[in-house]
Amino acid sequence: MRTLGLLGGMSWESSIEYERQINESVRGRLGGSHSADLIVRSFDFDFIEGFMDSGNWSGVAQVLADQALSLERAGAEAIVVCTNTMHQVADRIEAAITVPLLHIADATVAAIAQAEVEKVALLGTRFTMQEPFLRSRFESAGIDVVVPAGDDLEMIHRVIFDELVQGVVSEDSRRLFLDAISRLLETGATGVVAGCTEIELLVSPGDLDVPYFPTAELHALAAADWALGD
Ligand code: GLU
Repeated sequence: MRTLGLLGGMSWESSIEYERQINESVRGRLGGSHSADLIVRSFDFDFIEGFMDSGNWSGVAQVLADQALSLERAGAEAIVVCTNTMHQVADRIEAAITVPLLHIADATVAAIAQAEVEKVALLGTRFTMQEPFLRSRFESAGIDVVVPAGDDLEMIHRVIFDELVQGVVSEDSRRLFLDAISRLLETGATGVVAGCTEIELLVSPGDLDVPYFPTAELHALAAADWALGD
């Protein structure tokens, strides 16, 4: 089994789920008392949020690249960045390390392709919905992407940062998300991507009538497969 280096804490509400799912996957495959071989660097999210609030993406890139390299030096054989938004600086992280970065979009694209869904609604932080770093990887794979606009976009971003990363999961917000999703499905999307690792704590597959692609779970399972040599 290969060692994975996790950059987490962005937020820990979701990266703790990465650890659980990777460990459960390894135990499911190897049985007994087996668990994953992980090196975890979990940040104080307030520190990371400060960079985002001031638009300092090169600061974020520097911190994550340095810490990814530390994980590699400690023995990590691949890096897993446990958040969609921080894939904005994936290129900078990759440039700092010699081991692979297991990109969150790759696992999601594979699941969308397998489900034969051609157009998805992408929900995430404002950065993920508006910048090309994630959606361009879907589009390069031939998947059309629609994102919320206006009030829906602002509401989703606000709920992520003011509630979900702070451990607040509210029924009112779930309803607001489901309404926003309905509006996106009216544009012809036939699948929904939870493109923020905390959204799957709020919206479950059972809440939807269309295929649901939870990026954190898909990423965690792909990382476990990679660790086990698949
Ligand atoms: N975990 C979230 C994501 O998947 C948002 C928090 C962050 O900015 O890292 O995008």
